Amino acid sequence: MPELRTPPETAPPVPPLTLPVTVVSGVGPDRAAMLQRLGIRTVGDLLLHGPRRYEDRRAFAAMRELQLGVGAVVRGHIVASGVKWFRGRTRSVYEFILDDGTARLHCRWWNLPFLERMFAVGDDLMVFGKPNSLRPRTMDHPETERVEAGDEAPVHLNRVVPIYPSTEGLTQRVLRGLVWRALERFGAAVTDPEPVLVPVGSAPDGWPGRSEAVRTLHFPENLEAAERARGRLALDEFVALQFEIQRRRRNLERNAIALPCGGDNRLIKPFLAAVGFKLTGAQTHVLREIRADLAGPVPMRRLLQGDVGSGKTLVAACAALMALENGWNVAVMAPTEILAGQLADNFRRWFEPLGIPVDLRTSAQRGPAVSNMKAGPRLTDAHLDTAPIDATGTARTEPRPTKKDPTGGLIESVGRGSARAAREAVAGAVPSCARLTVGTHALIQPDANFERLGLVVIDEQHKFGVAQREALVRKGRYPHLLVMTATPIPRTLGLTLYGDLDVSVIDQSPAGRGRIRTHVRTPDALPKVWEFLRRELTAGRQAYVVYARVDESEHDDVKAVTKEFVRVKAAMAPHVVGLLHGQLRPEEKDAVMSAFRSGAVQVLVATTVIEVGVDVPNATVMVIENAEQFGLAQLHQLRGRVGRGGHESHCILVADQKTEAAQERLKVLAATTDGFALAEADLRLRGPGELLGKAQSGLPSLRFGDLRGDRVLVEKARAWVKSCLSSQPLN
Ligand code: ADP
Ligand code: MG
Repeated sequence: MPELRTPPETAPPVPPLTLPVTVVSGVGPDRAAMLQRLGIRTVGDLLLHGPRRYEDRRAFAAMRELQLGVGAVVRGHIVASGVKWFRGRTRSVYEFILDDGTARLHCRWWNLPFLERMFAVGDDLMVFGKPNSLRPRTMDHPETERVEAGDEAPVHLNRVVPIYPSTEGLTQRVLRGLVWRALERFGAAVTDPEPVLVPVGSAPDGWPGRSEAVRTLHFPENLEAAERARGRLALDEFVALQFEIQRRRRNLERNAIALPCGGDNRLIKPFLAAVGFKLTGAQTHVLREIRADLAGPVPMRRLLQGDVGSGKTLVAACAALMALENGWNVAVMAPTEILAGQLADNFRRWFEPLGIPVDLRTSAQRGPAVSNMKAGPRLTDAHLDTAPIDATGTARTEPRPTKKDPTGGLIESVGRGSARAAREAVAGAVPSCARLTVGTHALIQPDANFERLGLVVIDEQHKFGVAQREALVRKGRYPHLLVMTATPIPRTLGLTLYGDLDVSVIDQSPAGRGRIRTHVRTPDALPKVWEFLRRELTAGRQAYVVYARVDESEHDDVKAVTKEFVRVKAAMAPHVVGLLHGQLRPEEKDAVMSAFRSGAVQVLVATTVIEVGVDVPNATVMVIENAEQFGLAQLHQLRGRVGRGGHESHCILVADQKTEAAQERLKVLAATTDGFALAEADLRLRGPGELLGKAQSGLPSLRFGDLRGDRVLVEKARAWVKSCLSSQPLN
């Protein structure tokens, strides 16, 4: 039987920007391989390979006027060149001398003798660097580029030229030529993304169009134009991010049915009467916001920010009680076993008198899985607020039930087989056996199951990734979510990372707290530090001494907790010193922690396992050795372990302060206890990745956007996307 052949179809045209970079003239297999090392595979990748800096080659600096430590571009001819060897030919320095008619400049490279073959007397060169000496004028390891005549000379000379991130074997000149050619042929194919939100051209807030921005990014008239082009491309990134965040939020609002968890005060009243102190104004305010969410039509998605010691746990307890009053179970997840254990202790002390069972579930202690109701059908991804978003931006979910439904849509949305469960839920029919489970990551293991999960609380959210937060939420059917953090998130980051959350802030600490004084000391002052510590211990106080490492490393001289423990113990005798680090067995950790809490141990020598959450009001001294090893946010957290009672407290940072950056960090810390100011400083000094820690996987990768400085652009993008989405009909 003859084969049926369909007529050959004409292939749809390939979008030019997705073509392989080899279509650009000058890119063969070798260069393609080098470009790939830079992450450049397509024409589009090449066009979006942004310069790391620019060189203004319209006017070179005169060598005679070079200033110490100030970067400059000069142009001249090589008048001498050679390698000097020393230390028995194991070390070398290659040097050439460049003359521009006004003066001479020595350029040196250490231990790169082969450079001698790349330069010759008479070469015409452009050199960029910072003079590290003026007698004679010298630059070490400057960047160089040869001046060559030819068709493309205008690309490299007499203009502001881009300097790119590059890779071995690919010179700036070659890379710049490739970008130039790619722009000539494909620049027009760059189009503005849909929907168009960024006002372009002569509009009051006009930005360059995307195509123009890409051209300008590489070959700007001046540096202001380059920055504006970068801003335009950054805006596109922020708009895309905000779409993702805001669509997710909108899907939640459209599709999820909130569980009624507003409570009736039945448990909270006696709880607050027994707890022994009055809520602060800030706590009361935040609880009002939380109650409105828990009783509202959309599941709560709230971030609670409050500096260390501001009393977030009590807020979480009250939120939990609201859900428990309505008969819903509550899960609280904390990042470490110590913290989970401490939270469980607190909640037991508070809740057991009220008849509410509290379970602890860590990988060490597997508490019973909560199950006091038959499981309903599992919801699929499509029901969750992380529902996949299709190309048109609508989540693939069922439409929200209409208002006429007497159950408010709950029964329909929960589905067949659990209608009764849902009806009972609405009526709050099983309030008596509701319970609270506290745990670590163990709560998100596949074998951990929760029934009637009404509220999820995540403590110290910054220690978890977004995926972990979602994993716990998925254990229920649209439970309410409260995430708490003591790491104040600078607003730019917050809008980017937590843009789908409402934010509450506790901006007031409970009254009657002693002040915390911060001191920066060098290691030679340690004897005095120990003396001071002994005095505090003798006066009945307790202390922490923190180290950056568990064990010593041969690569540096950072002190290790296991070794220093012996020293501190000897220095503090007869006071009792305990040791705590992450490699101890859970029972050992528990034992030393409870001994410290009860006062049987006076000094806790520890790693950063105590960084978050640990609450011992009688501890008044925090000594941190090798403080230069820690980030600002982390030091602030550690410092927050003291100053929790009425006594004046001290945080002593012991550091060599070798580097300028380390010094600046410690100075900032000593100058303020305002967590927000510190977070902004940390963002500025170290960048977002370091600020949030590696665990924070939610950070978007941005080519052009800069979360350190682009707050205005982030806010713009957010407002545009908001108005764009709200003008789209709900369907
Ligand atoms: P964080 O916000 O760092 O988690 P905690 O919840 O651990 O802070 O609270 C710190 C300490 O303050 C705890 O000992 C807690 O019992 C106490 N505390 C909380 N709220 C109040 C209040 N309203 N008045 C007095 N002390 C409070
Ligand atoms: Mg806490």
